[in-house]
Amino acid sequence: MAPELTPVLSRGWLDSEPWTLAGYQRRDGYTAVKQALRMHPDEVIQLVKDSGLRGRGGAGFPTGMKWGFIPQNDGKPHYLVVNADESEPGTCKDIPFMMANPHELVEGVIIACYAIRASHAFIYVRGEVLHVLRRLQAAVSEAYAAGYLGKGVFGTDFDLELTVHGGAGAYICGEETALLDSLEGKRGQPRLRPPFPAVAGLYASPTCVNNVESIGSVPAIVRNGVDWFKGMGSEKSPGFTLYSLSGHVKYPGQYEAPLGITLRELLDYAGGVRPGHRLKFWTPGGSSTPMFTEEQLDVPLDYEGVGAAGSMLGTKALQIFDETTCVVRAALRWTEFYAHESCGKCTPCREGTYWLVQILKRMEKGEGTEEDLGKLLDLCDNIVGKAFCALGDGAAAPIQSSLKYFRDEYLEHFERGGCPFDPSLSTAWA
Ligand code: NAD
Repeated sequence: MAPELTPVLSRGWLDSEPWTLAGYQRRDGYTAVKQALRMHPDEVIQLVKDSGLRGRGGAGFPTGMKWGFIPQNDGKPHYLVVNADESEPGTCKDIPFMMANPHELVEGVIIACYAIRASHAFIYVRGEVLHVLRRLQAAVSEAYAAGYLGKGVFGTDFDLELTVHGGAGAYICGEETALLDSLEGKRGQPRLRPPFPAVAGLYASPTCVNNVESIGSVPAIVRNGVDWFKGMGSEKSPGFTLYSLSGHVKYPGQYEAPLGITLRELLDYAGGVRPGHRLKFWTPGGSSTPMFTEEQLDVPLDYEGVGAAGSMLGTKALQIFDETTCVVRAALRWTEFYAHESCGKCTPCREGTYWLVQILKRMEKGEGTEEDLGKLLDLCDNIVGKAFCALGDGAAAPIQSSLKYFRDEYLEHFERGGCPFDPSLSTAWA
């Protein structure tokens, strides 16, 4: 039997105006922060550590451990930066959460800042999503007016300023150090790590950079406790999370479920692959994660399960493609995205993604050769682990994995002198 869905972050999404302060308070809103403010900040960090919450932005780094890295009594200002620059292809979980539940994020921000002793937080929102920016700004204004932000939060001696900042729409600014450069007013390009932001982040001060969903999960953990949270999910990947199903499924959307659910089980909730078609390939966590096929339908979708099967859980963006989809075309579309978004700072990514696009374009037109397959893999080898940040590795993932599973389909393109698929049959390109 499939595990039950676990609506925590998605609770109230269908209520009337769930995004208002009144709407959030009808769902126990701002009760967790009052509990947290009665605790010692170190106890709050310990609680998040004990919960086992892992970062939901893609890497799965333990959130409590990250908070614990912020040095204490160092005399420097500390910052919390919420990474709301969600841009990974297929990834669409933080935006609906912020639209429906902006106050849950604000409550999580207050708790996190209290724990790490930060008196200024930023939410860095992807530039294209003006509606999200406005929704967040409205929620932050309501929280200031209620005395939940600003001087003396909830009548305590804890002060907190929260700034909502709009980016300019660059994928690279989702990389945490590029985001910090952008926030400082510079061109967004990744910095060398270490030092990690926890040591020298915003304005060279200790900074926690956390994903929206990670911070949004904190109020429920504080309210309901560690055992409740650990009662969901798997041992090393506990809790609930948002899985985003898109593409060739009957009911695409957000499915909040325990970590460790499988795609087969999620497809039961999502009505299956679109009627009359069968699954061909899918991504477990956006296009930066190596693709899977039907063989991996029963892989537990947690960090360990997906890792053991040769991919990464990433952002849990499950993009589903049926048999009408040309895998070469899919790889080309994704690679064009990475080439366009490469910030240009390092040669392997800047040059490599350009040449990958050129080769994939001629393959897709049926003008490639078998040698080109070797060239594609060689270029990927020269990017993976050699680029400045994770963007390069992400660009190589769909090419390497599609060649692993669908080498014959690549060959078929130049044997036939063109693409064997009719693009009008695949709604993936609509
Ligand atoms: P990472 O594993 O290098 O780091 C993860 C986090 O842990 C970072 O905040 C980092 O500062 C911290 N960290 C790691 N080691 C540390 C240490 N020794 N000391 C202190 N802090 C430490 O991953 P990354 O490069 O930040 O991110 C890659 C991930 O981003 C990928 O898994 C991908 O899925 C995801 N991603 C997400 C999106 C999106 O739209 N949400 C877009 C692209 C990529």
